[in-house]
Amino acid sequence: MLDLKAFEKQMIPLAYEEAAENELKEIIRRNKQELGEKLVLLAHHYQKDEIVKFADEVGDSLELAKKVSDYKKAETIVFCGVHFMAETADILSRERQRVLLPDTAAGCSMADMVSTEQLKVAWNKLMLQFGDDVLPVTYINSSAEVKAFVGFHGGVTVTSGNAEKVVSWVLEQKKRILFLPDQHLGRNTAFHLGVPLEQMAVWNSVNEEIDFEGDKSQVRVILWDGYCSVHQQFTPLQVDRMRKLFPQLQVFVHPECRKEVVDLADGFGSTAKLIRLAREAGSGARLAIGTDNNLVGRLQKEMAAKGVHIHFLNPMACACVTMNRIDLPHLAWILDELIEGRVQNQITINEETMKWAKVALDRMLEMK
Ligand code: SF4
Repeated sequence: MLDLKAFEKQMIPLAYEEAAENELKEIIRRNKQELGEKLVLLAHHYQKDEIVKFADEVGDSLELAKKVSDYKKAETIVFCGVHFMAETADILSRERQRVLLPDTAAGCSMADMVSTEQLKVAWNKLMLQFGDDVLPVTYINSSAEVKAFVGFHGGVTVTSGNAEKVVSWVLEQKKRILFLPDQHLGRNTAFHLGVPLEQMAVWNSVNEEIDFEGDKSQVRVILWDGYCSVHQQFTPLQVDRMRKLFPQLQVFVHPECRKEVVDLADGFGSTAKLIRLAREAGSGARLAIGTDNNLVGRLQKEMAAKGVHIHFLNPMACACVTMNRIDLPHLAWILDELIEGRVQNQITINEETMKWAKVALDRMLEMK
C-alpha cells in the first residue's frame, strides 16, 4: 500500500524541476537508448502525452502487468502509472526483474479507501452476520495487501474489462459477494447481471456496518463504499446538457461512473472498450466520453483526423492528480539515477503478500 509518509510529491533535485522540456526529453531519449533492451517503459492510458510518447507499451493496468513478462531481456521496468499498478507488475514480473515508480507519491485515492485493517473488521462482522456465505472480490485498483487478503479467503481480482465474467463466477460459488473497493463498478456490474438494487448493500467503512433497510438476509452484493474521484465527477445533468447541445450524440462512460450516469449512456465499458468504441465510430459521428481527460484528449486528436468529433463529457472535471504526478522531471531523474547505478523507488512486496496476491490474480487470469 502507498506509504503515506511519501504522500507529498516526491522531492527530486531542483535541476530537474527547473530544466527545460526539451532538455528533459533529451535526457530520457538518451538514457532509453543507452539502456536498450535492459529497460522497458510502460505507461497507463491516463498518463500525459509527453510520457506516453516515450512508452514501449501503453495500456490499462492489467494489459501492462501482463506485458511485463514478455520483455524477457528487461531487467528494469519503469512503470508510469500509479502505485497499485506497479505492485501488480511486480507480482506478475519475472524473478530477476525490478519495477520502479518514478514518483512514489503516485497513489490511487480509490485503492487507499480500503486498508487490510478495515477489511479485517468488515470481514469478521460479515462472517458473524452471514456465516461462510460470502466470497471477496477486489478490483485490480487495490493494494497488494488487499489482493492478498482476498486471495487467502478464496477470492479473486477483477478488472473493468472482465467484471461481468468474474462476478458471475463468484455468484455461482457463494450466495454473496463482497466487492472491493469501487462501489460503482460493483453496482453497475451486478445490476447488468440481473441482481436488483434491493439485493445490494453498501459497507459503511466509517460506521463499520452495512447500510441496508430491511431484511439483511436478502443481501447478495455487499459493496465497499469506495469510489474513483475522477469518474464520480460525471453526472446525469452533464449527459442531458450534452444531448441537448448535440441531439445525435452518443455517450460512452466507464463503469466507475455512478449508475445514474451509466443508465443514461449509450454504452459503458473498460478503458480498452471505450478506446475501441471511439475508433470504430464512422466519419461524422459525435461522441461524448466520460473517463480520464488525458485519454479523451488523445482520442480527440486521433479521431479528428478521421472526421469523428469527440467531447469530454465534463470539460470542467479535475484530472487524476496522482496519475499526473508522473512527469518529465521525475522520469528523467529516475533514468539518470539508473544509468549511474542507483536504483530508486523500487516497488517491493513481502513474500507472504506476494504469494496470496498472486493467487487472487491467477484465479482471474485462469478464467476463460
Ligand atoms: S483515475 Fe481514479 S481509479 Fe484511476 S488512479 Fe486516479 S483515482 Fe485511482
